[in-house]
Parts: sequence; C-alpha cells; structure tokens
Amino acid sequence: SDHSLDYPSSPQNINWATHYPAYANTEKLPEFADVGCGFGGLLITLAPLFPDTLMLGMEIRVQVSQYVQDRISALRVTTTSDDSSPHYQNVSIVRANAMKFLPNYFTKHSLSSLFFLFPDPHFKSRKHKARIISPTLLAEYAYALRPGGIVYTITDVKDLHEWMKSHLEAFPLFESVDEEALRAEGKGLIIDAVYTSTEEGKKVERNGGDKWFAGFRRIEVARQ
Ligand code: SAM
Repeated sequence: SDHSLDYPSSPQNINWATHYPAYANTEKLPEFADVGCGFGGLLITLAPLFPDTLMLGMEIRVQVSQYVQDRISALRVTTTSDDSSPHYQNVSIVRANAMKFLPNYFTKHSLSSLFFLFPDPHFKSRKHKARIISPTLLAEYAYALRPGGIVYTITDVKDLHEWMKSHLEAFPLFESVDEEALRAEGKGLIIDAVYTSTEEGKKVERNGGDKWFAGFRRIEVARQ
C-alpha cells in the first residue's frame, strides 16, 4: 500500500549511507533516477559505466523491488575489478509509488537524468490520468532535475509516445532534444542502454516491436 508511514518525509531524512555504504563519507546524492525500474536492467548496465554517479531505481511492486535489491547485493559481493575499486556500490533501489512520492526522495535540482522506460501504457482513455507523465507530475520532475538535466522516455506504444512527447513539449520547463543531438553531446552510452538494457526493452525486441524514443532537456528559465 501507499501508507505514508512507509515513506521518508523528505530527502533529507533518508539515510543514503544504507543505500550506498561505499559513499557514506561523501556528500553525494543520487543523480540518475529510473522511475518504474522493473527488474533493474537499466541501472545495472549503467552503474559500471558511470562509477562516480549514484543511481536510484523506484519500483512499486514489492517482489520486483526486492528482486532488484537482491540482484544488487549479489553483484556487490561477487564482482571484483582489476583495480579493486568497489563495484555496483553506486546503484540502489526503493520500493515506492513514484507518482505520489518522488519529491520525498530527490532534492531540488539534484538529478541529471530521469528515465521513464516502457512505462505502463494505460490504454483506455479513462485511465490516462494514471499515466506517469502528466502536467502535475511534470512540475515535480522539473523540480528534481537540474537545469540541463535530461528526461529519457521510450515505449513500444506509439500512442503513449505521442502523449508523453506532447505533454513534455507543452511544459514550459522542458524542451525536446533529438537523439542525434544527445549522442553528439556524449549521451550515446545512456541512449544505447535506454534502448536495449531493460527487461521490457528486450521483450519488445524478441517480439519484433517498435521502440519510440524521446529526450527532453530541463531548461533553466521557463518558456513564455
Ligand atoms: N522500466 C522497466 C523496463 O523497461 O523493463 C519496467 C517496465 S514495466 C512495463 C513498468 C514498471 O513500472 C512495472 O515494473 C511497474 O510495477 C512499475 N510502476 C508502475 N507504476 C509505478 C509507480 N507509480 N511507481 C513506481 N513504479 C511503478
């Protein structure tokens, strides 16, 4: 359930050292957030590629989030690197309803990347309000993202792609950035992971489905 007792009252009340023990003596906060991370494929792919960046997945299903937690724990124990630097210490997960409690986890302008990968489509129009991209929620996402930060979206449902794109484009604090431009500024590794690393993305691939990608930059000053 969403009982508020299950949630930190603010990001300042989170003991990040329990999530990232190897970074306990630093001031670091999560910079990548994967909303509805499912089985964790994205962050587990990105963690070794960006070893200095803390990453947090949010997943509402209890068993799925527990699975991801176990997966991360196992990787921390079993993986070693040549220089004996810690592995997978920069990735963690919370069981949370991101649509209600995202601001409880992320302070203002703390995120550089926010991911919505293959979100639940909620096909019927009376269920569209359940979609994870909506004007109210975009204000929260803009608050958590730093200016210059990027929202990455991908889906195999064209109608949902168009919905997310139109809402993000209409919101004064986001502007569309095309894939080529993002790759040109060094986001290629992230975009490749967005397309191929998640469990849902792999399923779409097996079934020969399409993938609709869109990226958006959190701009500094609201457009008129
Ligand atoms: N992003 C993952 C992937 O690409 O493999 C999972 C995609 S799956 C279709 C959507 C996920 O979002 C599910 O695991 C679901 O439990 C989760 N989810 C749905 N609503 C959520 C919410 N309000 N907060 C957090 N997670 C949510």
